[in-house]
Amino acid sequence: MNVVGRSVLAVTNRSTVRRIFAQSGAGRRLSLRFVAGETLDDGVNAAQSLNASGARVSLDHLGEHVSDAASAKRARDDYLECLDRIDQKGIDANIAVKLTQLGLGFDDELAVESLGVLAARAAEGGTTVTIDMEESVLVEPTVAAFEAVQERFGNVGIAVQSYLYRTPADLDRIAVRGGHVRLCKGAYAEPPEIAHQDLDRVDAAFDALTRRLMATSSIVPAIATHDVERIELAKRLAVGRTDPWEFQMLYGVRTTLQQSLVEDGYPLRVYVPYGSAWYAYLTRRIAERPANLVFFLRAAATR
Ligand SMILES: Cc1cc2nc3c(=O)[nH]c(=O)nc-3n(C[C@H](O)[C@H](O)[C@H](O)COP(=O)(O)OP(=O)(O)OC[C@H]3O[C@@H](n4cnc5c(N)ncnc54)[C@H](O)[C@@H]3O)c2cc1C
Repeated sequence: MNVVGRSVLAVTNRSTVRRIFAQSGAGRRLSLRFVAGETLDDGVNAAQSLNASGARVSLDHLGEHVSDAASAKRARDDYLECLDRIDQKGIDANIAVKLTQLGLGFDDELAVESLGVLAARAAEGGTTVTIDMEESVLVEPTVAAFEAVQERFGNVGIAVQSYLYRTPADLDRIAVRGGHVRLCKGAYAEPPEIAHQDLDRVDAAFDALTRRLMATSSIVPAIATHDVERIELAKRLAVGRTDPWEFQMLYGVRTTLQQSLVEDGYPLRVYVPYGSAWYAYLTRRIAERPANLVFFLRAAATR
């Protein structure tokens, strides 16, 4: 993330800005560019229309950093309802979860237990669970949770971030358990002691990790980026490949590119967030591309 992106996160994390933004109609309208809507029905409708256009889906019930057991259990139950709906409607989708939404950080045992409950229900419906990767302090417990639950259920995947120096070592551990691995650049502001700051280095690390994922037989690679150069490398590496892999992109981001990948026959999964807790998600999208603020200002002007 560049200096502008880090500043955006610093400003949007302030509580007054958060309150104004989250309560304004403009904030809500901008969120609809990147979020399917506030309800499970909205997420399901978006997933069905993406399936109809040839893309798979990851459904993300927005939320993170809950601080009490009741909220963490509610989040788990919301995801169970989502898995029921995926199953009943025959949607080609899995779920993406943040472990801090399930209790990681204040009750790690509860988070791991709930992840197991979700993995078991997903397995009944023939689908999978992907663990999102959050801030760097959470990487160790997140990888450990993946190891524990993947060993039991075999249908769990994990996201890794190319900006972190530690990711190649994490992949050594992840490859032992196997499963799907979502490679992304990383969306949080991290210090230079642990993460590449230079965007070219983040890209070079991403390419090296793409090569590695594509060459590791226990792993199903998910190349999660909107960056055309990174996408072209993955396409080249996938020529003649028979093992499963896929591209992943975010709902509402570079939709024309998404469409053309599907039309060209590439496997694509779209990450579809839904729910009322859209603020933190939206500010990360603005930090990645400060030009997204223009959409906010336009929405504000038309309130
Ligand atoms: C499916 C998926 C899952 C993800 N999961 C995680 C995760 O678990 N943990 C995590 O830390 N990060 C996650 N990310 C975010 C990721 O780390 C990056 O912050 C984000 O994808 C932007 O990087 P990029 O690879 O698209 O490349 P960039 O170089 O940032 O972008 C390439 C081009 O894509 C377009 N673009 C990128 N982002 C946006 C945007 N927000 N709005 C509009 N246009 C945009 C721009 O045109 C830009 O020039 C995920 C991303 C994807 C696609």
